[in-house]
This record gives sequence, structure tokens and C-alpha cells, in this order.
Amino acid sequence: MSAETTAISRPRRWDNPFDPDLSTADVERILAAPVFRDLDPNRFPPGQSLPDIVRNDARINRYQRGDIVVLEGDYGNSVFVILSGKVNVLYGYLPEIGRPPRRARRPFWNALAQLWRNSREIETRTLSPSARAVHMRANRGRAYLPDIERVIAEHSVTPLEHGDMFGEISALSRGPRTATVFADTDCELIELRWQGLRDLRARDPDLRERVDHLHRTRSLLAHLSESPLFAHLDEATIALVAQEIRFENHGTQELFPTGELPTESGGSLAGEPLIAEEGSLTDDLIMIRAGFARVTEHLDHGNRTVGYLKNNDVFGLEEIVRQWRGNGSVPLRNSLRAIGYLDILRVPAVVMERYVLPTMPEHLLPVAADTDIRATPVWKRDESATGIEQPLVDFLIDERIINGTQSMVIDLDRCTGCDDCVKACAATHDGNPRFVRQGPSHDDVMIANACMHCVDAVCLIGCPTGAIHRDLSSGDVHINDDTCIGCGTCSRSCPYGNIVMVEIADKAGTVITDRETGAAIRRATKCDLCAGQLGGPACQRACPNDALVRLDMSNPGEMVAWLHR
Ligand code: SF4
Ligand code: SF4
Repeated sequence: MSAETTAISRPRRWDNPFDPDLSTADVERILAAPVFRDLDPNRFPPGQSLPDIVRNDARINRYQRGDIVVLEGDYGNSVFVILSGKVNVLYGYLPEIGRPPRRARRPFWNALAQLWRNSREIETRTLSPSARAVHMRANRGRAYLPDIERVIAEHSVTPLEHGDMFGEISALSRGPRTATVFADTDCELIELRWQGLRDLRARDPDLRERVDHLHRTRSLLAHLSESPLFAHLDEATIALVAQEIRFENHGTQELFPTGELPTESGGSLAGEPLIAEEGSLTDDLIMIRAGFARVTEHLDHGNRTVGYLKNNDVFGLEEIVRQWRGNGSVPLRNSLRAIGYLDILRVPAVVMERYVLPTMPEHLLPVAADTDIRATPVWKRDESATGIEQPLVDFLIDERIINGTQSMVIDLDRCTGCDDCVKACAATHDGNPRFVRQGPSHDDVMIANACMHCVDAVCLIGCPTGAIHRDLSSGDVHINDDTCIGCGTCSRSCPYGNIVMVEIADKAGTVITDRETGAAIRRATKCDLCAGQLGGPACQRACPNDALVRLDMSNPGEMVAWLHR
């Protein structure tokens, strides 16, 4: 350590309360409100008491009639409880907001309005700077709907009132908001950031059960609403189908649990939990909710990867359709394995045959009556992926690069090793580059060790302060330097090793140390996509050889276009 140091107190979790101006009276009001008043203070230890959690992780927000509290598609990391007044949940595209939903949806949500009412849950709040036609309150910088009578008349909305909760889906799943919520009257909402919710759930089993039940039920409906397979069903049928669906989790967050790279002949592929086995009876349609799954087929004495599935993909549909068409019992033509952590839904085949298939439009059925389903390998269904050679696909799957929305891909055939990309990164970040020009490679394609801003960003899970978070609008993963306490949880959680813990220095280059212990203060650092830089990541702009690009791996077409540029 340098002899010259600057000493500060070591940053702690609650150095930055959610609302520094929250008064003692506000804390008492929250503790007396629905949800909070049911919690047993004796379950909480002295250093993390219930009032402490409320004082630091909660705040009271006041809204005027028409204000948008939560915008569908934005990212959020908090939940809400209605303290006074009313809000409306609106599910679907709202032209006034000027931004279509990320996926087509349908309005059967309202049929299940009881799931929103009389609950003791919360929801979240987010304002999108991308909103075009939405109005902004000049005095408070808040988006609002100027004509909510018309919105209510033209759209299906679900009212929520005192004591109701919303926002748990995004807060618990790290995904985007699934509905828009706006104030129906002037109202007050308690907002609890997710790390506070995490602590309450950990200490109070009753609250955990209520929140988890609501999360599972609402997220199931959100998932069904996004799937074209169920778009033709009426509300009552959707509710029947939802009742029969089972949830399952498989796998682990570790990238390679066995410590070995997967191989085509089995190897640690055998370490990936088997969810459905080739040749067995087709009992369920499997829907992927989160994570990634590998589809394989037997080849000689091993298994060959034929594709992968991600959020909203399904497995087993073709076999179920064949069975329904009267082909008897049709065995699964492939196996399905969890790559890392996987969250799935199982829809029983009998439910598909009874409620879904008889009215499904013919063009949505994956196979015609006389089609041999063995002639339709998984990858062929995704035409945008057909331009990628299978070994490269296998590499991207095995290394779980498919999780990245901003993977840094380098063409080794064009890269001259000039390091202009690294220098540009350093120049943009006070001399400290946020990535290394190394990483796993296949032939001429290398994936550099830079944060990929993952679809499933497991680095977010354990952060005690919420310093690592998603940008509410873009979904990019950022670290707030002011609230990072340097615990290293995110760095240990990132399966790709893309977060580095660094010692920090002041402007004069003097190392900053802990006043009490003398130890260097550490913070987490990683690629931030050059946030705030017009023109995007400096690495990509700096490359003189067009060798480096940031690609969204959930869209194989981007990779195809780049490979054939
Ligand atoms: S830090 Fe790691 S897990 Fe988190 S978004 Fe970046 S690459 Fe993904
Ligand atoms: S080191 Fe990572 S997990 Fe810990 S506070 Fe900082 S951002 Fe959060």
C-alpha cells in the first residue's frame, strides 16, 4: 500500500437511504400500514431491525391523478403498497405513451383482476424518458396521462386501492415491468426497494409466502399473455389452463459446475440436469420462463446439441400436436437439459389437447398432419439462425454467451492487436479500462471479457445496497459507485468473471483507505457501455479494423449479419 493515503469511513449498506428526508412520523406511518403492520418485529435482529429497514429502504411517494407510476417494459427494482387513494393497472399497449410493448399481448388480464385486488402486495414505479406523447408535469418532472377518462373507457384496467401491492414481478425476477400503473386519484404509495423486500421476505415466512404466491400467479399470467400459443383462448379458458400449470426450477447459477467445459460426447453435458429425455412419453408442453436450455439428440454413443431454448420458447409442442392428431403416443424426439439455472412451466398434454389445440389457428400449429416431425430440427425453425455454423452455435451455447445483450465480439482475423479499443475504454474511464482483450474463442471469433449486460443478470441477485442495478429504461446493468460498499458479492456471482474489484484513489492518485482499519477501500467495476457518451461504447468506435462489435445474442440475426459483413 502507498505510504500516502486518504482515509474515509468504510461505506456501509445504509449510507444512502432511499429517502434521506423520510421523517420519524413517516416511518411510524409505514409501520402502521397494511403489509408492514403484520410483520413481527421480534423476527428482526438489532442491527437490522424492522424500523431500520423501513427507515433506509422505504419512502412515501405522492402522485396526482393521472401520474404514471410504473410503465410497462421499463425495468424496476422496487415494490409498492397503496397508502391512500387508488391506482389503475393497465395491461397492453397504450398509444398515449408512444412506445409499443416489447411483445404482443392480449387483454385477458382483466379477467383475473381478483389477483390484483385484496392482496397485500406491492408494485413498482418507473418513468420512461423514451415516452413521446406522454405529458410531463413541469413542476415535478413526472409523466402523466392528461385524459384518463378516455384511457379507462378505451382500455381494460384493473383498479387497486388501499393496502394493495404491486411490482413484485420485476423486483423479484430482475425483468421488465409487465404492466403500466397510473394514479386514478391523488394518492400516496409506499415504495420499498428490492433489497428491503428481500430482508422482509427472509425474516417473515408469512410475508414470503404471500409475496411468492402473488409473484408466481401474476408472472404466470404475464407469461401466458406473451405467448402466441394462448392468444386465441377466451378469459375463462386461460384461467382453466393457468390452474393446471406446474412450476419447476432446475440447475445452478454456476457456469460450469463440474469445472469442465461441456463436450459433444457427453462430458459435463451430463452434469446439466435432464428435464425431458428423448424417447420418453410426451406428458407436458415445457415453456421456458427464465434461463437457457439445451436440446440434444442421441448420436452414436453420445449426444449432439441441436439447439437451445430461451425465455418464451417451448419444447414438446410438435409431439403433442402429433398425439392430438391421432398418431397414438408420440415419444419425445429430443432431450432437454438445463444450461445453468432454468425456470420452466409444464402444461400437461391433456390440457393442451382439451383446451388449447382444438381452437388454435392452423398456421400456429408447428406441423401439418402428414409431416414427419423428425424432419424439422430445432434450429431450422429459427431462420435467422441458419447462417451460423453449428460449431460456432455450440460454442456460444456452451460458453453461455447467448445470455448477453451486449456481448463484445472480436473478429481475430481482422484484429491486429493494436489495443486501440482498450485505450479508448481507458480514456473514457479515467485511465482505467473496463475490459481485457481476452476471452473464450472459436476459430476467428473471440468473446472478450467485458460485461455482456445479460438477459439473466445473476450478478444483481445478492447486492446488499442495490448498487448494481438495471437502467430502468434500457435494461443495461450499471454499478452506482456512490452506493457500492465493495463487498464483492456481484463479482463472485458473475459467471463470466466480468466484474473486477478495484482499490480506489482520489484525483491526486492517492489510495483511499478505511479510516478505522487502514485497509484499502474497494469498489466493483465493469463495462458500463460508456454510459453518457453519445455514440455508444468507445471500444467499438475506436477499432480501426472493424474487428470489434457489441452484439445482442438474443437476436441471432445480428451475429449472422456481422459474420457476413
Ligand atoms: S456482470 Fe456478469 S452476469 Fe452481470 S450482466 Fe455483466 S456479464 Fe452478465
Ligand atoms: S461490490 Fe457489488 S454486490 Fe457489493 S455493494 Fe458493490 S455493487 Fe453491490
